[in-house]
Amino acid sequence: MMKTSTRLRRDWVYRAKRKVSSFSTATTGTSTEMRSTKNPFVGKMATPSHLAKWRTGSYSSRTFSAISYMEDDNNNRHSAAKNDRLLVVGSGVAGSATALVAAETYQMPVTLLFAGNIPHDCNSFWAQGGIIYRNFDPSSGDSAESLARDIHRAGAGLCVDAAVRKVSEEGPDRVRELLLNPNGPFADVPFDKKPDGELSLCLEASHAAPRILHYADHTGMIITKHITQAAARHPLITMQPQTLVTDILREDDICIGVATLNRATGQRSFEYASRGTVLASGGLAGIYEHSTNPPGFNALGSSVALATRAGVQTQDLEYVQFHPTSLYMPNEARFLLTEALRGEGAVLRDASGRRFAQDFHPEGELAPRDIVARGVFEESQKSEKGNHNVFLDITHRDAEWLHARFPTIQNHLAQRGLDMAKDQLPVIPAAHYTCGGVSTDMQGRTSLTGLYAAGEAARTGLHGGNRLASTSLLEGLVFGASVADFIGGSEEGQDLSSMIQSRLESSPMVMQSNNRRYDAWSSSLEPNQIENAAHRAVQLLRQVRRIMWDHVGLIRTPSGLATALEALTDIQDEAMELHQLCPTLETAGVRDAACAGRAVAAASASNPESAGAHYVVADSEEYSDDEEEVAAR
Ligand SMILES: Cc1cc2nc3c(=O)[nH]c(=O)nc-3n(C[C@H](O)[C@H](O)[C@H](O)COP(=O)(O)OP(=O)(O)OC[C@H]3O[C@@H](n4cnc5c(N)ncnc54)[C@H](O)[C@@H]3O)c2cc1C
Repeated sequence: MMKTSTRLRRDWVYRAKRKVSSFSTATTGTSTEMRSTKNPFVGKMATPSHLAKWRTGSYSSRTFSAISYMEDDNNNRHSAAKNDRLLVVGSGVAGSATALVAAETYQMPVTLLFAGNIPHDCNSFWAQGGIIYRNFDPSSGDSAESLARDIHRAGAGLCVDAAVRKVSEEGPDRVRELLLNPNGPFADVPFDKKPDGELSLCLEASHAAPRILHYADHTGMIITKHITQAAARHPLITMQPQTLVTDILREDDICIGVATLNRATGQRSFEYASRGTVLASGGLAGIYEHSTNPPGFNALGSSVALATRAGVQTQDLEYVQFHPTSLYMPNEARFLLTEALRGEGAVLRDASGRRFAQDFHPEGELAPRDIVARGVFEESQKSEKGNHNVFLDITHRDAEWLHARFPTIQNHLAQRGLDMAKDQLPVIPAAHYTCGGVSTDMQGRTSLTGLYAAGEAARTGLHGGNRLASTSLLEGLVFGASVADFIGGSEEGQDLSSMIQSRLESSPMVMQSNNRRYDAWSSSLEPNQIENAAHRAVQLLRQVRRIMWDHVGLIRTPSGLATALEALTDIQDEAMELHQLCPTLETAGVRDAACAGRAVAAASASNPESAGAHYVVADSEEYSDDEEEVAAR
């Protein structure tokens, strides 16, 4: 067991430390380069050509300069008119969908806050495989019922049927409205088409029909570009980058806005909103040592941490999904090899070349993700003399077709001397997706009035214990839009807005902050103190990630979870104090990561029943999968 000594040492700010990289966000490089930066909070997030295109607006008819940024004018900021808006935290698919529907359909002023320099700095950008649509060819057998069955089955019987039905039934219309919208206010995403001009739909593991829309293997990139461009050019949407949301502001039983920290200037502010506040701030798979999630301020558990600190209900946190096939390269960050590869026929082999997936499930490589992930993990534990022994093999497919269908992956492989048409690819599971999150109902309402959640931040019950491939982008669209529909289109939503408005008008907190300018944190600290704090935060984040991987990973034991809980509680205490003394990008990140990690460990420890992605064995037991039980699912 790893011993973690994390007791607070109050003299941290005075100790000399080696220099950490600056807080500014670099903006070029590949995913792997990003994860290997010394300071894990500082992410590079897109290739130069992607950024250049985004900046010059060549993905839309409007230029980057069309984006309006907030004026740093407190008098104006806190005026009643200014507060008449919806606050959306997060620029991924869920946040952008919420903002667009609110602004376009209901004419609501929206402020879209996000941590990155540009809105692409989010998990949505990195989605490879695709987004679920509907196969309208009757011979495919596809239907809302068929998709619902697949989601329920993957979710290990733990899905909430209302959420499953909502996504299965409303999904195709939302895709058409928000992503296939030529010349309209929403996005027009150029998904891959067949030679006859029809949309090309592919099959993925555990789907009964080919129903996945894609854009080669960088579907998230193209969706994010188009949807964020649509949001940026909307006159009622104000984009506010580089803004870390550090806390939820509540007046008794109502959410009135958020506290923020500008990562570039250190300026702290209170942002109020009478129409409501939406957490679309993503998941927490980035708090694991091995993760498919991008670096930077992404997937560090802010959604769960913000909710937890504000006393808002979370649920199903123990169901953290591990993707079965990330590329294994020693001393490198993990890189996702999409589910679509197995959908297109890739098979799993051990070091001797034997296909082993049938050993753990009759559907082999196309079994639900949690089962394949544990199968791959178990096989990898059998490795002898440190030799890697799990490989993904798609060499039987045509090289030209493979390279055109999976160009991002092939490019990544080629830089490492590999070719998917010729080589077996070493794979290992990695933390990938948060099935639980901030509890919501079908309108995205949380347990705190005025606070909503959508996308990976939310626990709608759609995924149960394990997410079906390609459901998350769709969930972000459907639930993001539903939040806007509720606030702008229902009487109840509008009554709530009036209630928040009157609370804002009488709130002592708001009146006080109207008359006060907040100093940047940096003005009261020496540069070396800030540097030391950042260095300590980076160390602590590394500890969080190691603990999560070692003790709250694919296979859990009661004693491992108890160890994790104790260590994460200590780290959380230190991180809270660190952030209070020196509120920076780094200290905010580790505070959220430790809080979210602790919440996942606690949820896991309190659920002794293995299901879906939560797999717990007795301390004495070696890992073993019950083949009969698995085969019955
Ligand atoms: C490598 C990879 C491949 C994937 N492939 C697929 C796929 O093929 N199909 C599919 O359906 N799903 C896929 N997924 C999952 C999917 O990408 C995500 O679940 C989904 O995009 C989440 O969208 P979101 O809008 O909820 O959050 P995100 O896209 O993660 O956006 C979160 C936003 O919140 C902001 N944020 C976070 N914390 C704060 C804070 N404290 N303050 C301010 N802003 C904050 C971030 O800056 C960001 O803008 C994949 C994920 C990964 C990592």
